[in-house]
Amino acid sequence: MSIFHYSIFLRAIIDVITTHAEEISALDQAIGDGDHLINLQRGLEALANEVDTFNGQDLATALIQTGMKLMSTMGGASGSLYGTLFIAMGKSCKEQAVSLKLLADAFSAGVESVKSRGKADIGEKTMLDTLIPASESLRADAENNTALQVTLNNMKTAAYQGMESTKMMLATKGRASFLGERAIGHIDAGARTSQLMIRAIADVLLDSQ
Ligand code: ADP
Ligand code: MG
Repeated sequence: MSIFHYSIFLRAIIDVITTHAEEISALDQAIGDGDHLINLQRGLEALANEVDTFNGQDLATALIQTGMKLMSTMGGASGSLYGTLFIAMGKSCKEQAVSLKLLADAFSAGVESVKSRGKADIGEKTMLDTLIPASESLRADAENNTALQVTLNNMKTAAYQGMESTKMMLATKGRASFLGERAIGHIDAGARTSQLMIRAIADVLLDSQ
């Protein structure tokens, strides 16, 4: 398998979100407005409808168009944030040969863009608590030339620990911030969906080894 085959990654992401649908809904119901799953599924369905177009594109174009599609179909805070993530990733890897280092840099650029768009950082009980540690783990391992299998497993662990860390946090951004201390004890929905998607992507790459 080539390193980039769009439909395989998309299928893996759709599967993991579908498998965890009830849990994701419940998380956003507990400390948000309950629509995160539906927002995300609307975006993923729009991508699935055009998967043949995406399959033929180079990585940068596919990432940018993925982000634009998510932004125009998802809605919610997560629509513009996931949209921004992919658009910035695509822009950062334009006209460059695909390598693990390139992907790591692109992921970091995407996460920086989410930070500025959401005016948020680590520790605010959002998707960034997953995305920041996962991207930092990937970049550190790519720079150190760590074996691919170890690199991917480290990224999965960093994403998981980051997601779990949102449980005991106070929310200072997003709808959960209106709840004050009542948000403590609940994992953030966006932190969970980004962790699940990172895990799905990493597992596709691990299986193809
Ligand atoms: P909405 O909050 O508009 O209902 P969703 O339910 O689809 O949108 O998405 C909520 C998720 O978006 C949250 O769980 C959180 O992870 C993320 N989020 C919300 N606001 C921000 C922000 N300012 N920065 C980063 N992520 C955010
Ligand atoms: Mg919501």
